[in-house]
Amino acid sequence: MPDSSAQNWKSAWEAAVMPTYGTPAIELVSGTGSRVTDSDGKEYIDLLAGIAVNALGHAHPAVVKAVSDQIATLGHTSNIFAHPQVITLANKLRDLISPDAHVFFSNSGAEANEAAFKTARLTGKSRILAAEHGFHGRTMGSLAMTGQPAKRAPFEPMPAGVEFYPYGDLDALRALIEVAPDDTAAVILESVQGETGVVPAPAGFLAGVRELCDEFGALMIVDEVQAGMGRTGQWFGYQADLPTGVVPDVVTLAKGLGGGLPIGACVAATPAGQLLSAGQHGSTFGGNPVSCAAGNAVIDTVLAEDILANVNAQGEYLRTELGALDAVDHVRGRGLMLGVVLTGPRPGFAAAALDAGLLLNQPADDVLRLVPPLNITDTDVHDAIDILKELL
Ligand code: PLP
Repeated sequence: MPDSSAQNWKSAWEAAVMPTYGTPAIELVSGTGSRVTDSDGKEYIDLLAGIAVNALGHAHPAVVKAVSDQIATLGHTSNIFAHPQVITLANKLRDLISPDAHVFFSNSGAEANEAAFKTARLTGKSRILAAEHGFHGRTMGSLAMTGQPAKRAPFEPMPAGVEFYPYGDLDALRALIEVAPDDTAAVILESVQGETGVVPAPAGFLAGVRELCDEFGALMIVDEVQAGMGRTGQWFGYQADLPTGVVPDVVTLAKGLGGGLPIGACVAATPAGQLLSAGQHGSTFGGNPVSCAAGNAVIDTVLAEDILANVNAQGEYLRTELGALDAVDHVRGRGLMLGVVLTGPRPGFAAAALDAGLLLNQPADDVLRLVPPLNITDTDVHDAIDILKELL
């Protein structure tokens, strides 16, 4: 039996795990729905969902069954061989995004963005324009496109060719493209910047980026790793701004896609979806049958249980209740991807929330990020609001 006393698991973590994350405050051992339990037996309401991952909460029967059945049937094939789950999932994503798309499966969001980066380079042009304050992952390519200099600095030199524009500023983006219009391969952006504090693009920005990309023949890459798969109350965040039928050239996904299993996807409409050819990219685990089975279960369940309606209803309720508090300046974001902007800095708020039985995170001292399971119940939302009211 592992020793779960706080003293012991913390020192065991520090002795064995690289210090990339700092030592966690609690050790989680189980979860059901939007509730998790730590190794001292304390229960929490989970408004973080493994950082916007557990779309159906913890231990959802559909995911448990899909994953259990698949691992008991065929656990891994590599991409030297096909299997039914990967084809089914690719087709579901085509149905949701673009019927002529082709899909590359990865294991994470950063890797989905690597595939997008390499796709952009195969246009024969070199420049990739990325948004200031954006976040695309920690691998070298995705980090190069991440608009947060402090995260890049220790690892310079970055892969070359990435330049940054102010998020939301179409004139500045046009001016940057015009520096070398014939060499601009792609523009990348999040529909809602998540890591930087849940900052949605201003209305009209994505539609304007689509027009600029069309005008200059550049790929529009939308990183939906965090905002995608229903989190904003639509399947993808870009749908709030792009007219029906208008899609990005490349959409990257991960997080909610696998409902807790590691999977990412780079979904590229024609012709971008056929730029990467045999032998140019790959992943041993990408499109693994178990992860794809989880992805199929997530999509089927979101559709069958009309979970997008729940995302919109619970999101609206949280927004109204929290927005009315004196300590809250405003609530931004969409659906169940919310940034609660406080009237002033409250360093340590996330730790206080943890003590009070609530998991959330705090991307800045004055912002709380709420990204709970998409199927969170009325009871869990009410209880979470009660705790937040007390604390705020
Ligand atoms: N892109 C966005 C928008 C993200 O929010 C994240 C992670 O937070 C990533 C990419 C990286 O995903 P991963 O951590 O799965 O590599």
